[in-house]
Amino acid sequence: MNMISNHMPTAELQALDAAHHVHPFSSNADLAKEGSRVITRARGVTLTDSDGNEFLDAMAGLWCVNVGYGRDELADVAARQMRELPYYNTFFKTTHVPVIALSRKIAELAPGDLNHVFYAAGGSEANDTNIRLVRTYWQVKGKPEKNVIISRKNAYHGSTVGSASLGGMPAMHAQGGIPIPNIHHINQPNWWAEGGDMDPEAFGLQRARELEEAILELGEDRVAAFIAEPVQGAGGVIVAPDSYWPEVQRICDKYEILLIADEVICGFGRTGNWFGSQTLNIRPDIMTIAKGLSSGYAPIGGSILSDEVAEVIASTEFNHGYTYSGHPVAAAVALENLRILEEEKIVDHVRDVAAPYLKEKWEAMVDHPLIGEAKIVGMMGSLAMTPHQESRATFAAPKGTVGLIARDRCFANGLVMRHVGDRMIISPPLILTPDQIDTLISRATKALDETHAIAKEQGLLVPA
Ligand SMILES: *Cc1c(COP(=O)(O)O)cnc(C)c1O
Repeated sequence: MNMISNHMPTAELQALDAAHHVHPFSSNADLAKEGSRVITRARGVTLTDSDGNEFLDAMAGLWCVNVGYGRDELADVAARQMRELPYYNTFFKTTHVPVIALSRKIAELAPGDLNHVFYAAGGSEANDTNIRLVRTYWQVKGKPEKNVIISRKNAYHGSTVGSASLGGMPAMHAQGGIPIPNIHHINQPNWWAEGGDMDPEAFGLQRARELEEAILELGEDRVAAFIAEPVQGAGGVIVAPDSYWPEVQRICDKYEILLIADEVICGFGRTGNWFGSQTLNIRPDIMTIAKGLSSGYAPIGGSILSDEVAEVIASTEFNHGYTYSGHPVAAAVALENLRILEEEKIVDHVRDVAAPYLKEKWEAMVDHPLIGEAKIVGMMGSLAMTPHQESRATFAAPKGTVGLIARDRCFANGLVMRHVGDRMIISPPLILTPDQIDTLISRATKALDETHAIAKEQGLLVPA
């Protein structure tokens, strides 16, 4: 089957792309010189580019294609919904069947009394909603001064002004006048990079207690909420030491502040449960969802609210909403995606089959001469590259130099694995079979072998 004959040659596509398309998170001038890779189709866990090269997509797109590519049911549902009711809003005392059905389903799947959904078109918008939501919540409760949100450095919560302010990415804060006021950042539980001589569990406790210190310093009467990803994704798949989350939960319980779990990546099966909060035993008041909610087939996200939060918000007019809040086509696709995840027992597959097998293979990669730490929770993993395992040293070369080499070697070996600085990360589709895991591991190992050889040749294996 030749699927690449019906469009222009790659070089022409690249030239047009460079001429008219501004890419997110890219140096567009450099990219234009190099030429973007043109992805033309995908099936299961495999991407095909415009030259016919195939790649095992160990990133599931951008952490989102949980059920894998090429599911006709999702295309059929979208087409059917477009014909029946392509669009209607949910603002003015109206609703529609897809959004009703999806909301009931999410309430059923979400733990505890997280029973109410406010919709957005993605995770960034949903976190912007959360900023306004928690501040409105405390206003309604007669505490308008309780408006500071505590977040973490190196967190990723999205790219809008509000959500990037919640996030703790220095490169993002350097552009466009963010963070907005009244967002306070504490340190992340990244033992590998920041734990120094401390034992990981003691370090986890210390980092959790920074939340308590911040609350006491700012004043409990000023802090509205704490937001965090159960496992930091874009920050490099940072898995907190086991001591971290129980202490954070204790602190959130002790003080009157709302806990927002940003489940945009961790939700919908990624960690081996429906939500990362279940895997890590967290009891949030609000969850941010997107990505795996529709497996990326349609843009949709939202905030799941507890009974209590929803009740408080319901008592006022919440002057907030998006044209595409609860978009009927996206809602129908999300509902069908949840049906697939549930009926095909994909979350069980992750927990019982794929994740244990991947964990065994992934953790064994710590023996590679370039790797110092191998972390994995469910189907999200990271490898810290280092020139010296014992001291956990970084490379003398600028951060990301070796990471970029490794990323390119992965592509050359038919594998999409991202780098965050000098950490390599994966977040593959949840349907990955043990055979495909073997392929992933052997390609990753080969790419790392080649990276090691190149780094050695270029004199990069030098500790900073
Ligand atoms: C991707 C992501 C977001 C932003 O979602 P968008 O759909 O890109 O707006 C927010 N939070 C986390 C944890 C994410 O990974």
